Amino acid sequence: MYRKTAEEMLAFIRKSPTAFHAVDQMKRLLEAEGYGELSEADAWKMEEGGKYFVTRNGSSLIALQVGEGLEDYSFRIAASHSDSPAFKIKESAELGVRGEYTQLNTEGYGGMLCATWFDRPLGVAGRAIVRNGEYLESRLVDFARDLVLIPSLAIHMNRKANEGVALNKQIDLLPLFGDGSCRKEELKQMTAELLEVTPDQIYGMDLYLYNRMQPSVWGAHGEYISGPQLDDLQCAYTSLQGFLQSERQENAVKVFACFDNEEVGSGTKQGAASTFLADVLSRMNDCLGKSKEEYRRALSASLMLSCDNAHAVHPNHPEKTDVQNCVFMNRGIVVKSHAGQKYTSDAVSIAAFRAICEKAGVPLQYYANRSDEAGGSTLGNIAMSQVSMNAVDIGLPQLAMHSAYETAGIKDSEYMISACRAFYGCSTGKTEKGRLRFE
Ligand code: ZN
Repeated sequence: MYRKTAEEMLAFIRKSPTAFHAVDQMKRLLEAEGYGELSEADAWKMEEGGKYFVTRNGSSLIALQVGEGLEDYSFRIAASHSDSPAFKIKESAELGVRGEYTQLNTEGYGGMLCATWFDRPLGVAGRAIVRNGEYLESRLVDFARDLVLIPSLAIHMNRKANEGVALNKQIDLLPLFGDGSCRKEELKQMTAELLEVTPDQIYGMDLYLYNRMQPSVWGAHGEYISGPQLDDLQCAYTSLQGFLQSERQENAVKVFACFDNEEVGSGTKQGAASTFLADVLSRMNDCLGKSKEEYRRALSASLMLSCDNAHAVHPNHPEKTDVQNCVFMNRGIVVKSHAGQKYTSDAVSIAAFRAICEKAGVPLQYYANRSDEAGGSTLGNIAMSQVSMNAVDIGLPQLAMHSAYETAGIKDSEYMISACRAFYGCSTGKTEKGRLRFE
């Protein structure tokens, strides 16, 4: 069971080389379960018992399952992110080297471990905006083949290669694309051929490099999995499965949210800092004929899971993690805390989540950074500035975060699905006389 779930999750990642593709995959899963797409540009009609989803920029998605009997309703929200660190191809991309090579000119998106991008076959994917008569249409692009590679410099040309090398993104990390026969705008020509349009119909492109290496299940007992983009597509996929599998819940609106641009600070129109979530939730409230007060009351009784992967203890560097508040793969869901509130968890939200997991039989483990390390941040506290409610930061333990090939535990995807299924199906949240009601 664990292995089957892990493999399904890895298959989802394999089809999601960029955030645009991840959202497209989520759309397909939602449509197969009877969810209807709403456009932000249209007037919405919603009803109790309805199932809907909305996308923004083709790279962020919010799905809603509206319960029945919403007299005194609240939201159950699980949020994750669709993007991962990668290299983005610049508008004018082809660069010649001594007449014999053509490279692509790229820049970094997010904070990747650069060295992991060397010497492996890379693909190119993203989206293109195509002019079709009076319309500009967005089309997904994926060459789905080994197309470029970033070769390392041989040790003979850099004797200090194993002593810590500064990598320059404009010099060391440009991928080799072809020989000297490549034309100016060769990549655009190829994109046009792939999309069966002419190059002058392409008005814009957001293309990225991605790792083509197959995911794998490995270890003495098959206990580990590795693949690209586990941060955060492992959480995105598993929280979506929990959402889809959960039982109908009266008096609640279940929300699955997946935001783009977490890796670059979330401050875009479709990121967690945007109005996207607040817009969708308040529009839904209006559509159902609810008052502003009912909306505010709903938020006060709501709970959000901010789902983003966490650092497992590294076998070669156990000293990098806190001695006690540290986590291991295959030991369950990670609850993250930070005194400075980079993570939203507090005693109240942790207690609520713990009660849910206890009921679902899902193990939990607790994470805090070493007190002398800054650690990372995530999307939960950023989203709180737009829609404020009780929230807990959780994730799945992994190694090599932001490597092009990350590692996690075989069991943990299943744990996350079970926890999210229980979360969406529970009726916790309401505060009565200062006490949080939990059923
Ligand atoms: Zn992440």
